[in-house]
Amino acid sequence: MSEHKYQRHVEKDHAIIDGIDVSGIWNRMWEPREITDFDFTNLNKVLDLSGAESMGWCYQCAQCIGVCPVDNVGSYGPRKLYRKLQNGMDLFTHSDLWLCTTCNNCLRVCPKEVDMMKIMPAVREQAILEGNVPGELQEMLQNVAEYGNPMGESARKRIRWMKNLDEPVRDLSKEPGEVDVLWYVSDYFSYHPRGNDAAQAMVRVFNRLGIDFGILGREEKCDGDSQRLCGESGLFEELVEHNHAMFEKNPHERLVVSDPHAYNAFKNHYPELTGSEYPVQHYTQFLAEHIDQLKEMLTGRFERKVTFHDPCYLGRHNGEYEAPRTLIEAIPGIEFMEMYRCKQQGYCCGGGGGGMWLDGLTGEHTSERLSENRVREAIMVGAEVLVVCCPYEVSRFEDAVKSTDNEGALEVMDIIEIIDMCINN
Ligand code: SF4
Ligand code: SF4
Repeated sequence: MSEHKYQRHVEKDHAIIDGIDVSGIWNRMWEPREITDFDFTNLNKVLDLSGAESMGWCYQCAQCIGVCPVDNVGSYGPRKLYRKLQNGMDLFTHSDLWLCTTCNNCLRVCPKEVDMMKIMPAVREQAILEGNVPGELQEMLQNVAEYGNPMGESARKRIRWMKNLDEPVRDLSKEPGEVDVLWYVSDYFSYHPRGNDAAQAMVRVFNRLGIDFGILGREEKCDGDSQRLCGESGLFEELVEHNHAMFEKNPHERLVVSDPHAYNAFKNHYPELTGSEYPVQHYTQFLAEHIDQLKEMLTGRFERKVTFHDPCYLGRHNGEYEAPRTLIEAIPGIEFMEMYRCKQQGYCCGGGGGGMWLDGLTGEHTSERLSENRVREAIMVGAEVLVVCCPYEVSRFEDAVKSTDNEGALEVMDIIEIIDMCINN
């Protein structure tokens, strides 16, 4: 492909057409640019991967760019990736491979069904095999492989959050057997200090509702959905095998999860490997079914202006927008307002698809974190509290509140924490 070729043109010194003189530059015609002149080697390397074929279906309409959260703070989106691939970019070694948060907003609007949720894991898997993986992500993947959680904490410490909790919790790793609700606590509720607050709140709410529930305790391992999206399909398969065996060991009516990523994994991806269906609900769905009982118990008031952040993996990926809102609106005294980007058009926090562990790399290619952009929006609509229901988000947004100098202006709380406060008042 030579620059020179595209500058070639044909120009006639004398041309009289229909009696009109269109000589010289007025009749200048460029030779057709043959698209086959592009070097497709790197594009074809992507299209040859099982799962990544749809990258080639892009017809450059640009619907995806306006909705891509990463483009909002940088320059990104499937259309731009395709164009760069046409121009010879090697995606397997390029930072663009790791910027997509798999938020699903581009697929929602794409007329050609270019599916980043399949393209990204396929290309990332190959990149990992070739040894091209960002250091911060590599560390997380090693931790999950070795310890069963991204933090690299021991399995024993998974129940440390219960230490000062004066509430009964059945630990199925010590007392296996049948239970109505198997509550999958998840990594961030188990190990992160702010997640611990929400986990303790969940126990109090379950107990006040009289739910017969149990947890897997030290036998619980990471659900693996983010690791799958990072391209670690082998690690995902190991985690599926382990968690599935634990679910089988402890028969249950419902599998209630704290984490939308776990919800997505158990609902949509574990069945592909195990052949089993899981009676899985996100905790907001489970509690929304108990809304009448909850309303009677909600005696305290929460007199604050709040807004709600839809988690991509509960909302756009799985279509659940109402259950969290049902709970929020049931809280006495609350003043609820939507952000501009909500429900189907909800803005990603930046934590999905491995983004949770890629802040260093994304920071080099974006003007601000997605979570910072979101915090500004929450403040713009007049909220005092940003309400969330995904374990990744409390820590992400609390960091963003600090880094945008908004400490004191915006608080971040999980829905379960607010319910717990109003029940126990
Ligand atoms: S919306 Fe789909 S077809 Fe249109 S530019 Fe984006 S990826 Fe390509
Ligand atoms: S999935 Fe989300 S972050 Fe990834 S390219 Fe599409 S819109 Fe952008």
